[in-house]
Amino acid sequence: RDDLRGREPYGAPQLDVPVRLNTNENPYPPSPRLVEALGRAVAEVAGGLNRYPDRDAVELRKDLADYLGHGVTAQQVWAANGSNEIIQQILQAFGGPGRTALGFEPSYSMHPIITRVSGTEWIDAYRDEDFGLEAERAVAAIEEHRPDIVFLTSPNNPTGTSLPLEAIEAVLAVAPGMVVVDEAYAEFRRQGTPSALSLLPGNPRLIVTRTMSKAFAMAGTRVGYLAADPAVIDALLLVRLPYHLSAVTQTVARTAIAYQGELLGAVETLRAERDALVGWLRGEGFEVADSDANFVLFGRFADRRAVWQGVLDRGVLIREVGPPEWLRVSVGTPEEMAAFRAALKAAL
Ligand code: PLP
Repeated sequence: RDDLRGREPYGAPQLDVPVRLNTNENPYPPSPRLVEALGRAVAEVAGGLNRYPDRDAVELRKDLADYLGHGVTAQQVWAANGSNEIIQQILQAFGGPGRTALGFEPSYSMHPIITRVSGTEWIDAYRDEDFGLEAERAVAAIEEHRPDIVFLTSPNNPTGTSLPLEAIEAVLAVAPGMVVVDEAYAEFRRQGTPSALSLLPGNPRLIVTRTMSKAFAMAGTRVGYLAADPAVIDALLLVRLPYHLSAVTQTVARTAIAYQGELLGAVETLRAERDALVGWLRGEGFEVADSDANFVLFGRFADRRAVWQGVLDRGVLIREVGPPEWLRVSVGTPEEMAAFRAALKAAL
């Protein structure tokens, strides 16, 4: 395909270093109790692996709906291999040649990548100076370009900033097509910051995407999901592969949801660690984006590559992403954060 020639594949470095703070994973592995439960659950399905899995993931979707609350039903939930596959299915169903998708930079790089791979045209719009997104600016971009799909990300990656519900409502009021709110980091928001899930009633063109890769500490399992009008899910059924979610994946995800109390307890710890990190970075004189997620964007650096490399040389992997003068660091354990602080100071 000529349109893919010269493009770079997704390339977050996968380096074997002591402290990895570059892909916004949850630093806490499953507890021994959960590991045991996962083993039992996998053993239970193992005897039936000669058969295809439930291609509609009925039980998993019920569990996810219960977890989401907001009156969301299993018929409004769909699951796939990570929210990356969810985004791919959305593009396959609602995008394609002759159609357009628009997002507000800086934001999650996979939105434009998956958009282009689907043959859909990508349109860059831009966030405000402070990485927020004023409703007026969003509405103006949508009215100018009339995209078939709008991507909003809240909290946004790589900036960590959340959108107020009013901005999302304003977008829904003018968007001519689908509005996707990517809430991969929803659980890390400060208490009280509302989810777009509350806007689902009466908004059949709204899709809210979530993932088990972050708060649920299941990045290795690959489960993402969405909540939307059941008609959206009917459309996704037309593009998904026949058995996209394995039986092992489904049972692991359901077991993790059953342990949500324990897993989400760690989210509290990470939120506190994030706030401490923001405070420390500000105290050191850096500019810091207002993070509502499990990572922090900070700057500004005349040569961010040199700082990134200096931190890496001390065993800590962070991320060169977002605007050219900024770096992103994921929130880790207290020990990992201490290693990051020491590495950054030494690198400077
Ligand atoms: N959306 C956002 C905003 C992300 O930052 C990420 C991962 O970093 C994803 C979606 C994809 O997550 P996954 O495919 O693991 O569910």
